[in-house]
This record gives sequence, C-alpha cells and structure tokens, in this order.
Amino acid sequence: MAAAQRIVIENGAIATVDADDTEYASGYVVIAGHRIEAVGAGRAPEGLTDVVRRIDAAGHLVTPGLVNTHHHFYQWITRGLATDHHLFDWLVALYPTWARIDEPMVYAAAQGSLAMMARGGVTTAMDHHYVFPRGSGDLSGAIVRAARETGVRFTLARGSMDRSRKDGGLPPDFAVETLEDALAATEETVRRHHDASFDAMTQVAVAPCSPFSVSTELLKQGAELARRLGVRLHTHGSETAEEEKFCRELFGMGPTDYFESTGWLGDDVWMAHCVHMNDSDIAAFARTGTGVAHCPSSNARLAAGIARVPDLLAAGVPVGLGVDGTASNESGELHTELRNALLINRLGAHREAALNARQALRLGTYGGARVLGRADQIGSLEPGKLADVVLWKMDTLAHASIADPVTALVLGAAAPVTASFVNGRQIVANGRLLHVDEDAVARSTRTQAQRLARLTTQN
Ligand SMILES: [Zn+2]
Repeated sequence: MAAAQRIVIENGAIATVDADDTEYASGYVVIAGHRIEAVGAGRAPEGLTDVVRRIDAAGHLVTPGLVNTHHHFYQWITRGLATDHHLFDWLVALYPTWARIDEPMVYAAAQGSLAMMARGGVTTAMDHHYVFPRGSGDLSGAIVRAARETGVRFTLARGSMDRSRKDGGLPPDFAVETLEDALAATEETVRRHHDASFDAMTQVAVAPCSPFSVSTELLKQGAELARRLGVRLHTHGSETAEEEKFCRELFGMGPTDYFESTGWLGDDVWMAHCVHMNDSDIAAFARTGTGVAHCPSSNARLAAGIARVPDLLAAGVPVGLGVDGTASNESGELHTELRNALLINRLGAHREAALNARQALRLGTYGGARVLGRADQIGSLEPGKLADVVLWKMDTLAHASIADPVTALVLGAAAPVTASFVNGRQIVANGRLLHVDEDAVARSTRTQAQRLARLTTQN
C-alpha cells in the first residue's frame, strides 16, 4: 500500500477544541491521507516524508471544521417569506408552497444551502428533509448528490409527516405521507445511503418532523426502525410555547414526557431547539444522553424564546449548533451562529456568565460532533481523527486588531475561510468553493425559487 500523502499546515494559531481546550499561539497540523496525524506547538516535525503541500498559516486561526446539526435545505428557495410570524402561523403560511416542491427544486436548494455553509467553514452538514409530495421524484437522492458534489461530510435526516389537519395536526392533508409509506421510504433511504464506517461521508437518521405533524405511532415505529437499523433519531422538540400547549391538550403531557413515552429519549437521539424545557426535562435529557441542536437565530426570528444552553451544558447534555432551515434563518451560515449563541444566551438568566467564546466554538465543533454521534471521528484537531480542518483569515481589517484569535472568530465579523479540508481534501480556497460553481448555483436557485412561486400562485 502506498504511504499516505501529507499536507503540513504551520505557523498558524491553533484551537484544537480537545478535552483540555489545548491551544497553540503558533503551531502545526499534519494531515496524512484522510486523517490528522499530528498537532503541536512551533514548527512541524523535521523529516516528514511524502509531503505534497506545505501551507503557511501565518495570520490565521486553525480550528476543527464546523458541524451543523439542524437544517432544512429545501427552504433555501422559500427565504424571506412570512417574515413577521411565530412558528405555527409561519408553518401554516408556508406549507402550501412547500407541498409543491419537486426534485429539481430540492436539488438546487440543497446546492445553495450547502454552498453557503461550506464557504463559512462547515465541514459536516445535515439536512432534515420531511416534505415528500407524491410524484416529486427522488428527493433524498438529489440531496445526497448535492452534498457529495460540494465535498462536505453529510447526515441526511429522513423526515416524515403523517398527522395532517384531519387528525388534529398542523400540515394540510395533501402535504403528508401515510404511516406505512413514511416508514418504508425511510428504511429504503437508510439502506441506500447510510455508511456506518469511521470515515463515512454520508449517514442517514430517522427523523419524523415534530409532535404536531406526526402520529404517535410514527414516532414509536420510527424509533423501533432506527434502532433495528442501527442509525440515529432526530426530530424537533420543545420549540415554542404553542407546542407545549398542543402536547398538553392532545397527549395530556409536555413534549419531553411525550417523547419519553414514545421511545424518543436516548443517547442515539438529538432534537432541534429544546427552548421550553423545565428542570425535570433537562434532567431527563441528561439522564438519557439525549442531544440538542441549538438554533439561536431561528429561535429569535420566530420569537420562540431562548434555549437554556448554560443549564443544558451544566447538566451534561450534548449540545451542538444548527442553522435551521433558511426560511427562518435567511443567512444560512453557521459561523455567525457561534456569535449569536453567545449573545442570545447572555440575554437569558445567566447573563455574562452564560457562554464564553471558547464554549461557543466548542458548541459549533465538538458539541455538534457529539450530537451527531461522531465525536470519536470529528469535532476536534487530534491525531487519529478525520482531517476536517479550517483556516480562518484573521489578519485583515475585520480582525487584525483583536489579539485573541478565538475571541476574534466568535465575537468579530464573520471571518473569511482561506482553506477548508474534509477528509484531507480541500473544498474551499480563499472563500470560494472548489468543486461547485457558485455562480451557477446562484442562478439555478433563483430559477427554481421563481418556478415554485409561480406554481404556488397558480392555485
Ligand atoms: Zn427545524
């Protein structure tokens, strides 16, 4: 077998985000093939063989790639609508449009979502896709293809909805699948696309949409399916006060107790939002190892409230960050969520002690890896882990006068990405994608957004 080719990154500030938060004011990262081989202070070791590239990272901060834990790619072509609504009104306003999506629309929207995140240092993306109109084509296949082309590591959360208006749910009747169809299609998606290996580029999770859009039976059977197939479980939980009220009226209990009764708490589960949680809900998440995808911008945009991130972390709950769908977070970026997580949590009960810059960076990297069940593989710069590495440019007008690079990254303006690697393969150079034509993606997302808008207004 040929020796692994090495890439040496040196002279940069390094934030490893390992268990001790080890940082080097000037250090190196050696990539060998798909993996990180060495990280340390000063110059890289002498005498390395098979070095194909040396990168001078002077003026840069080097971090693990960012890990996004919640998103809905298809929403890229329905941004900027229903801009002054809370969650339930916003959903009711958008469902009729979303129910008309098809494969070309979803493919373009996935490309747009992925491109925006990858340019901003995301190396692991996820898409929770739950709208599957009849006859709309191979939506899961289109999403996976877009992720492969961009070059990011990817988790597809195969969503579903089977509780429509006629069953007391929120989506219109024509926007949902049957229980049987949802389960069969989810199983097929796992069999087609899930890779369980250490350096997997594509994984699949079982992901019924939310308590107010899926039946109790779909939650129960979905959890059984995921555990039978050995994949993770994802859904939305405790997002708004209205959801809490809905659960109490329909099920006679709050969302966390409802999830527990349907098999949805466990160390193989992560949930988006978790805003409206009392102390016993947080204790249940901690006891079971259930993870949280914190989406601060979306929660603010939909006036959902402030998730109790400091309390979740203090209890030992795994917490990562999520962009959420871009119909409720039009920027579509994750690096700006580091800042927003810190700022929004400081408006909560813990004030200035809520989160610091290093905790914010940890949420966006190692925390996300933990939530996706991949903390052994990604999320920190440590020998043996996969080479998902980002070089942030810190020596220009926006950041040069801030001495501490982690503070600059989190609190400063969105930092430009000079280089981003996934599995040791470069996917971004000087803020531009290397494997996808951004301008072509911009054009096709506009075309597909216009197509969808026309289809919606025709009826
Ligand atoms: Zn969401």
